[in-house]
Amino acid sequence: MAQSMRGAYLPGNSTVELREVAVPEVGHGEVLLRMKASTICGSDIRCIYHEHLGKGPEGYQGLIAGHEPAGQIVRVGPGCRRFQEGDRVIVYHISGCGVCNDCRRGYMISCTSQKYRRAYGWQRDGGMADYLLAEEKDLVALPNELTYADGAQVACGFGTVYEGLQKIGICGDHDVFITGLGPVGLATAALARKMGARRIIGSDIIPKRLEIARELDLCDIVLASGPDNVSQVLDLTGGLGVERAVDCSANDSARATAIRATRKWGRIVFLGEGGRVEFNPSPDIIHDQKTIYGSWVTSIWLMEELVDRLVRWNLHPAGLITHRFALDTVSQAYSLMSSGQCGKVAVCFDEELI
Ligand SMILES: [Zn+2]
Ligand SMILES: [Zn+2]
Repeated sequence: MAQSMRGAYLPGNSTVELREVAVPEVGHGEVLLRMKASTICGSDIRCIYHEHLGKGPEGYQGLIAGHEPAGQIVRVGPGCRRFQEGDRVIVYHISGCGVCNDCRRGYMISCTSQKYRRAYGWQRDGGMADYLLAEEKDLVALPNELTYADGAQVACGFGTVYEGLQKIGICGDHDVFITGLGPVGLATAALARKMGARRIIGSDIIPKRLEIARELDLCDIVLASGPDNVSQVLDLTGGLGVERAVDCSANDSARATAIRATRKWGRIVFLGEGGRVEFNPSPDIIHDQKTIYGSWVTSIWLMEELVDRLVRWNLHPAGLITHRFALDTVSQAYSLMSSGQCGKVAVCFDEELI
């Protein structure tokens, strides 16, 4: 196997640097993956690509980028207990200490160990490289029915959405309103559809995204974001509002819209990160008995469950990938993603580069 590999770094001025680095050696409990698919997340753009704005768990330490990796195991270190060479895997994108309360619940995303919590692509090398060193405990098996690109989508976006939808619960009686139709909003529509939602209404400010949501038949109704959205949703739902709303926009007014377009006893979950929201607790939630949930990524067991469901539903998250790039054109991938004129953007290798 090659001694050196290419890895993509984000210096923080809206550029990408591809550097030649050594292929990592596997240690105890670690595996080396041949990367197959690595998708770009909104948070890569928000916290790293333009400027290194993230702090704490979103603090980028100048390492190889990419926290949505899927690949094939090519080396297994001593002490591994389950996975073997040749296995196809998804990487849960935060390596936790394994022994704090959050890790024991499977939520390594919120691991409380300052010393041992390290997210791939943030505080340890990520998937925008030919190879990735991962800990065996962070792996989720990728079934043969799913492609690596499907798996990369599970590593962050689809996992995050599945968790949020589990929290609010979705059933066949529910009209679901999604504010923000970027990759996370589109994933919300795709999963809500399979979970049986009655009608899916989506809104976004970017016309291209509305077009994608309609073209892929993910939303039944799309609305251009604006001050009329609450009354439009009320009109569509007999004046009552939707049963469930999901904010994927992180936009102040879209969040308030999501709350106000939800009916009495309804549930709202916030997935979009950053920004603010202003609402009036009495009329907007208290008197209408509404519940607002916050949801941050997911647990590794729920991610395993999602993978199982995707096979059952014959749902392929890679369907939301509108553009694929080879690693040597990775800078075009980030620049397209930051423009928003796309669905999901992926850097792919070998058989995934089609
Ligand atoms: Zn992400
Ligand atoms: Zn921990």
